Amino acid sequence: MQELRQNIVTKEWVIIASERARRPHAFAEPAHHQLTSRHPPFDPDCPFCPGNEELDLEIERIPLHAENWQVRAVYNRYPALRKEATLSRTFKGVQRCISGVGHHELIVQHTRHNTSLGLMSPAEAHTVLTMLYQRGWAIQADGRIEHIIYFENHGERAGASLVHPHTQIIALPVVPQNIRNRIEEARRYFDDTGECATCVMLNDELRQNARVIVDSPHFAAFVLYAALSPMHVWIVPKRHGISYLFTTEEERADLARTICIILNRIAIRLNDPAYNLVFRTAPIKEMNSTYLHWYVTIVPRLSRMAGFEMGTGMFINPTLPEECAVFLRHPPD
Ligand SMILES: [Zn+2]
Ligand SMILES: [Zn+2]
Repeated sequence: MQELRQNIVTKEWVIIASERARRPHAFAEPAHHQLTSRHPPFDPDCPFCPGNEELDLEIERIPLHAENWQVRAVYNRYPALRKEATLSRTFKGVQRCISGVGHHELIVQHTRHNTSLGLMSPAEAHTVLTMLYQRGWAIQADGRIEHIIYFENHGERAGASLVHPHTQIIALPVVPQNIRNRIEEARRYFDDTGECATCVMLNDELRQNARVIVDSPHFAAFVLYAALSPMHVWIVPKRHGISYLFTTEEERADLARTICIILNRIAIRLNDPAYNLVFRTAPIKEMNSTYLHWYVTIVPRLSRMAGFEMGTGMFINPTLPEECAVFLRHPPD
């Protein structure tokens, strides 16, 4: 039986096409797929490899001023938005426009060219998360910024143009419509029930334990009941909080461990597929809201978007979320 499932936090519907469901392992990349680890550890043409650093673009490094860096934050040479621009609005008839003010930074995650968060140690991933936290605080001080997105594109199908592992930060002078809709849904749920929808989801997932992959001291990672695509995972902090910027050092270490576990299992079980990893945190000017709950989402790029998705905003998931959770629950042999 096919089934339509709804995510209680986002209100998004998905068709779980269980009749034509494919087993999770059927989504593994073929044997000839180019693995990240099979690239050379150093690429003389890569601007992120040690020795090739474009120092004019560097913002900061960890450790501070050290010659042998672990993680660097750099400006994007071809930014989507520029911090030097002046904020101006033109609202005239159909011409509704804001100048391209914002920030576009890249976090070089590691000195090694051929690694990824799924192959790094939790301590190395923790340093990446520390840099995201530091840059987030620095950028949010810019009063023109409304919203910050932290994300990673891994692999060509996820939109990555460089192999060298990196995370991106884009800070916008507007709140995207998609985020506005979620805030509205969270507010409505809170008004109706007095509870945070994400806390309710988290507690129910832990109680049912049908889709949980990792249950760590500070986070729960699960395949969504209404997963939009195969292996669509949310990592949700157990402590209700509206922004990644309010996490503690201990929580970030735990998050790094959790991200490493999940991405490692995805890399090993599915032969290093492309994925997107996104931090969903509250807009800067909503930082004192009570009903928003931040989280990290991981979407392996295993199925493609087509006309139905474009026409409806809905997805057809050809896997059962419960089977995907079992597939990712156990450590690799
Ligand atoms: Zn490189
Ligand atoms: Zn909550």
